Amino acid sequence: MRGLAINKIAVIGTGYVGLVTGSVLADLGLDVTCVDNNSEKINGLREGIVPIYEPGLDLIVERNICAKRLVFTTDIKKAVSECDVIMIAVGTPPAADGSADLQFIEAAVREMASHLNNYKVIVNKSTVPIGTAQKIKGWIFEELRLRGVSYDFDILANPEFLREGSAINDFLHPDRVVIGSETTRAVDIIKQVYRVLFLDDSQYVVTDLESAEMIKYASNAFLAMKVTFMNEIAHLCEKVGANVQDVANGMGMDRRIGSEFLLPGPGFGGSCFPKDTRAIAEVGRQMGAPVSLIEQTIQANENQKLLMARKISDEMGDLQGKQLAVLGLSFKPNTDDMREAPSITILNELAKKGANFKVYDPIACKEANRRLEHLRDRIVYCSDEYETMKDSDALIIITEWKQFRNLNLEKVKILLKKPIFFDLRNLYQKSYMEEKGFKYVGVGQGTKFQPFLVETS
Ligand code: NAD
Repeated sequence: MRGLAINKIAVIGTGYVGLVTGSVLADLGLDVTCVDNNSEKINGLREGIVPIYEPGLDLIVERNICAKRLVFTTDIKKAVSECDVIMIAVGTPPAADGSADLQFIEAAVREMASHLNNYKVIVNKSTVPIGTAQKIKGWIFEELRLRGVSYDFDILANPEFLREGSAINDFLHPDRVVIGSETTRAVDIIKQVYRVLFLDDSQYVVTDLESAEMIKYASNAFLAMKVTFMNEIAHLCEKVGANVQDVANGMGMDRRIGSEFLLPGPGFGGSCFPKDTRAIAEVGRQMGAPVSLIEQTIQANENQKLLMARKISDEMGDLQGKQLAVLGLSFKPNTDDMREAPSITILNELAKKGANFKVYDPIACKEANRRLEHLRDRIVYCSDEYETMKDSDALIIITEWKQFRNLNLEKVKILLKKPIFFDLRNLYQKSYMEEKGFKYVGVGQGTKFQPFLVETS
């Protein structure tokens, strides 16, 4: 480690964050050992089998296994003792009360600490409540005390901002790298690791541990709020006859607002926004500083998913025995992640009313099959878009996979029993779809008032 030549890194947890982090760092020339306690996963990875769908990741993994820069193991002792920098990227799922469940972090940290053998920099990339870095320190001290040894170490809070579906690019080209630290030594070391990303110094936000942890939660909560705000505006657009797409355009051109995350849809899902909003709300309650906007966001997002199901059942009338064609199940395109996907709530609600489904997702069917196991008698998984439509009473687009943007509408009309088209991602325009003979229901695409076009003579 002297002279800050960091060559060997351990990453604990090989999920979306850990596997991408480890593989991309290996691809940039570092020696990386990825550790996971799931031996099935590790055995597969050793043979180049990537257990998640993330575009481009399988090639990077394969390339770096061959180059022997990327090693997969369940042997945390070996990984810890050989590496100078240890990154933690295990899951922090929600506990029953909404707070982040830290059991995986604690287990990983304690196990790591039981094998510390010299100075290490411990980098936490998992999303954790404010104050967790201090807890990590405490767990390490306890383990060292139990062993009757004393080693120097530094903790860094280095939250990850990559998005599933574009994780490799996001990791390679981050908007910013947030580093919370108590020592400049550890900051210098992690910057040495990230040197391979060719970052400008201005891209680093170096701060204390608590602020770094807060930046991650506050960022995710803000984005979740922005999405939800637009979902509610979309609902209002429908009532007043405005078109949410024009509204979003008009708002997004204001640089103070920005154009991203202004698209309405069936509500946010995934492994981050739902759990992180609940976790920060719980932190607020515990600290006596409730974040009411975030509390409201969580509730409004639940309502949004139910509203989508209601939109469909209102239009369809009695759903008993009806068959619905469903396109897209993952919580967003380019991922197989079904965690808290809106499709789950929507299908559950419609199933309660007696609907059956023919569904298609380019990647997520296997995962959906697992998460929607309780609806197995009602769901038929299809091998392409058009197969879902045959003899179905209506079509519902839930996830905006690119290939759904240009459906053969004539074929859709022929295959469906009735040309009813629910577009929960606004991939199509209402006026165009109506011209084509569809009963079209989007999100926030109200019937336009055209007051300036009214003939006055
Ligand atoms: P994940 O569930 O996909 O993967 C976690 C991995 O950790 C699993 O493979 C699990 O087997 C492993 N693990 C659990 N306990 C372990 C232990 N004691 N030792 C070794 N391995 C262990 O999780 P993820 O989606 O990669 O998320 C990880 C963290 O990063 C979470 O805190 C999440 O909030 C955060 N995050 C996720 C994303 C994302 O898009 N998924 C983005 C930014 C941040």
